Amino acid sequence: MGTAVSVTIYARTEPDGWRVHVDSVFGEIEKIEKLTTVYDASEVSRLGLLAGKSLIKTKPEVLELLRMATEISKRANGAFDVTILPLYNLWHFGTDSAQVPNPGQIAATAPLVDFTKIIIEGEKAGLSETGMAVDLGGIAKGYSVDKAVDLLQRLGYSDFMVEAGGDLRAVASSLTKGERKVWIRHPRHSDKFLGWVAMDEGAVATSGDYERFFEQDGVRYHHILDPGTGYPARPAVSATVFAANTAVADAYSTAIFVLGPEQGIKLLEENANVEGLVVYEDKATHTLQWTVSSGLRGRLTINDSFN
Ligand code: ADP
Ligand code: MG
Repeated sequence: MGTAVSVTIYARTEPDGWRVHVDSVFGEIEKIEKLTTVYDASEVSRLGLLAGKSLIKTKPEVLELLRMATEISKRANGAFDVTILPLYNLWHFGTDSAQVPNPGQIAATAPLVDFTKIIIEGEKAGLSETGMAVDLGGIAKGYSVDKAVDLLQRLGYSDFMVEAGGDLRAVASSLTKGERKVWIRHPRHSDKFLGWVAMDEGAVATSGDYERFFEQDGVRYHHILDPGTGYPARPAVSATVFAANTAVADAYSTAIFVLGPEQGIKLLEENANVEGLVVYEDKATHTLQWTVSSGLRGRLTINDSFN
């Protein structure tokens, strides 16, 4: 998934077999990566190859991911849409040929991005139009953290954290209850924190414009696209979401990034069990501002040296 994954286990004494267990956790994450990668042959890339032609028998994990993604797309009014790939590919993010596509290409490709054209029938999945393709990059990382958590719980662990590239889930026992803080990275200073939240259990994910971007004529073009325009979403700079599981936190963080400070916070308020904050660039003052959902407001401490 192009990121570092870490597993931290807390225990009073060294648990028997923990090395083998942690290896099996990484194995579980690799399994999800193999199913969902867009860089190699995978079930998800086959969905694109057979788009408009036929449905394919799909592993339960991929079906679950598509179902969860579609549910959040509906709630977010399409701001989160895993059929973003044809638009995304026009930008060549993360390669030497990254550049702003011409507006004609964007206009011609935009109709291929439409989550309502994802078909799920029993154990089969597909896409209804040729040219469509799926990219689970906005949810698969979080989902794989959840799979890792499930496995650790099955193995009997009761106090641990799993983190993959900014998507984190924690489970706490009496050993660490009341001790854990989640520090949120400052979107413009990689060596600073924006603030912190106390969190024993649950998930948190952040989407930021600093993860993958290029600059052209002094403008930053980043990897979170607004499906409505085909261009990088503005004015958000980072979006952090707390939820019960990491897949939901991951997808919502992308969704509220796209929706921005007003609509994004509104989406969080409308949905139970999701809270978060959006950091955005204020056009008039050229400063960073932040806004937070009501359920998180009292729990969040923002550093004084924010701007
Ligand atoms: P990060 O890479 O910062 O963890 P996200 O979780 O926000 O970021 O995921 C960004 C990835 O999601 C992109 O690299 C791309 O694969 C995909 N993506 C980009 N825009 C959207 C969107 N509007 N809806 C769904 N997925 C998206
Ligand atoms: Mg995400």
